[in-house]
Order: sequence, then C-alpha cells, then structure tokens
Amino acid sequence: MTAPAPDTTADTLVVAEVFGPTVQGEGPSMGRRASFLRLGGCNLACSWCDTPFTWDATRFDLRAELTRTPVPELVARVLEGSPGIVVITGGEPLLHQQQPGWAALLATLNVAGVEVEVETNGTLAPTPATAAAVTRFNVSPKLTHSNDPTDKRIRPDALTALHHTGRAAFKFVCRTPADIQEAAAHTAAYGIPPHEVWVMPEGTTTGELDERLRLLADPAIRAGFNLTTRLHVHAWGDERAR
Ligand code: SF4
Repeated sequence: MTAPAPDTTADTLVVAEVFGPTVQGEGPSMGRRASFLRLGGCNLACSWCDTPFTWDATRFDLRAELTRTPVPELVARVLEGSPGIVVITGGEPLLHQQQPGWAALLATLNVAGVEVEVETNGTLAPTPATAAAVTRFNVSPKLTHSNDPTDKRIRPDALTALHHTGRAAFKFVCRTPADIQEAAAHTAAYGIPPHEVWVMPEGTTTGELDERLRLLADPAIRAGFNLTTRLHVHAWGDERAR
C-alpha cells in the first residue's frame, strides 16, 4: 500500500531557482537525468563561487534573486518530466534543515519514489531525519584556493558525520596537482577512502575545464581518486539554470 502524501500546504523554502529535467553535471551521477532545486543562502564565500546570486548581497539584490515558495509548488516543478534524481543544491542547502519546509520537501520526494541528492560544502552535519531521507550527499569541502578561512571551510564534526552516513561522495574542486595533495590530506585525516573521492576541475568554460582536466587526470588516478568534469558546462557553457 502506498503511504499517503504528507500535507505540506503551509510549508515554504527560500529558493533561488528550480530547473530541469537536465543532467547531473558533476560527480558520481554525472550524465544522469536530474532536476535541480537551488536554495538561497550560504555560510561560506568562495572566491570562485559560480552561484553568488544565492548569497552575495554586495553583488546581487537578494530580494529579487530569492523567493519564498510553497513546497507543493517546488515538488510539482522538480517532478515535471520524471527525472531520475532530484538534486537539492545551493548556496548551502543544509542551512535549511530546521525549516518545516525542508522536512516536508524530503518527505514528499521520498513518497514520490525519486532519488534525492544533496550538494553540500561539508560544514554542517545532517540531522538524522535528513540523513535518512537522502540517497546521496555530494560533499564538496573547500580547499585553500577558495580563500575561505580554514576554520570555517573545514569542520571535522560535519565531515565525519557526513562520512558516517555511508552515502557521501566527496568532490574536491581543484586547479593544480597540489590541490589534489591537499584534498588527500583531508580525506586521510577523516578516514575517507579514496574510492569515495572525486576530483573536479574548477572552471566555467570548456577551455578552463579541458586545460585543468589534463593537469589533474594522472595525479587524481595515482591518488586512487575518481575524476569528473562539469558536463553541463560542456553542453551549455555558463548558462544559468542548466
Ligand atoms: S560553498 Fe558553494 S555556494 Fe557557498 S560560496 Fe562556496 S561555492 Fe558558492
């Protein structure tokens, strides 16, 4: 018997954009059909952030960029076109974990039977309810070149908690082989096995990605890591909502 869908009418979340079906462009699910829900707000300020419109009030009018939206409307939109995966991203989506709308969103997606991926910067531990409802956490701890302070970007308790869910893939944005060594130091410190780690070139153009991928491929493989590119950039460039 199918469980009744939860009543989520009163629940809302602060959203930057909802789009899809497209493909998951990065990490272990790269190439799979997916829809995306991008939530507002972030607790970091990476120098190369490709979604500053979700958090940076010095460059964007966040009242125009972010909209508080009812969860049923969000669910209906992300399930349009029957994607295999719904990706909840940001900004930093785990900042929303205490919102009633978050629980309602996950419950409704679970009832719909769709896989749920959460993309996080790895600074916040998932609540037990979040951990139970998510198919995979795509955890992207930030390295020195992000220019975020070390004590803000590397949170041992959160990284350990995410690793212990048994459903985390760790994705490091890299520019040089030295970045891979920095990533390896972090994964060794937290007991994260290399087969759970993906190295991804930083870049928002095909040229940047190609150039960095050539530099990173051999060192990543030697470190025992997996490699990913950013498939959506190859397909659509830096276009928003793709
Ligand atoms: S954690 Fe992600 S969303 Fe936040 S500033 Fe860094 S790249 Fe941007």
